[in-house]
Amino acid sequence: MASAGSIEQTFVRLEDGIQRLTLPLPTGPKHVHCYLVDGTLFDTGLGLGEVPWESAGIERIAITHFHPDHVGGAANAATVTGAPVFQGGLDYAQCERVWGSRDWPERMAAWFTRHGVPGPVADDLIEQGHAFAPFIRYALDPDLLYEGSTLAGWNVLELPGHADGHLGFLRDGVLIAGDHLLERISPAVGLYPDSRPDPLGDYLASLERTIELAPEIVYPGHGEPISNAAARARELIAHHRERLDDTAGALTSEGRTAYEISLDVFGAELGPTQRRFAVAETLSHLERLVREGQARRSGDDGTVTYTDP
Ligand SMILES: [Zn+2]
Repeated sequence: MASAGSIEQTFVRLEDGIQRLTLPLPTGPKHVHCYLVDGTLFDTGLGLGEVPWESAGIERIAITHFHPDHVGGAANAATVTGAPVFQGGLDYAQCERVWGSRDWPERMAAWFTRHGVPGPVADDLIEQGHAFAPFIRYALDPDLLYEGSTLAGWNVLELPGHADGHLGFLRDGVLIAGDHLLERISPAVGLYPDSRPDPLGDYLASLERTIELAPEIVYPGHGEPISNAAARARELIAHHRERLDDTAGALTSEGRTAYEISLDVFGAELGPTQRRFAVAETLSHLERLVREGQARRSGDDGTVTYTDP
């Protein structure tokens, strides 16, 4: 799979009448894909640099989820093209709560502190959050989509997990999937404040649904198209089952915080950003274990800890 790393920054024609625009990212997978199909643009990149929106024939813009590399260019793309923006109802509420509120980084840092994250690792988020937020130009007041909505012949699916309000768009066996299903990366599934309580449970259900839907091809936000979606979904379920076992194995009768458990599950050698992802991911597994009767949570009004049942 060679071409995932090539950043064309121009629309490239794939099969099924789909055009793909690949934009650079400073971190993570280093690139993100936007897709253009029959006038519908799916996702908009980070919103940095010059993007050839005006020449592309964009009639409407659809957002899979509110993470910066998908929604960050939406306002710019909408302004340049005059196209309306469509976003999930729950996803837009979270988008506003996170990118539209001044004290979100502080609230997030306080929440990580309650889960045992040391001061400097939690506080690093405050500076970064405030530095980053102004660059994420989501479109205000989009048209809202829900499970069962249709858009230009696409069926809208709610596929929660990677984000609570994550949408997929399905038409004629083609699924535009955002970060719900990626070929070589396990999409991050973290628990965050003011979010649905069991994101891993949501994600496992969304993967089961993907197996049932069995789309012929999936176009993801990162990496190459996936032609065996059901097999990839099964792999990801197995991966999380293993990680649930690892997480359960790190529990004792003494209360441990999600931060402490993340040191066992993800190793001790992570920088602040990666550590916060690891803690959020550990928490999504711990909360699933609580629901499966394999962990107990206590200390909801102070430092939160988990024990074996
Ligand atoms: Zn992404």
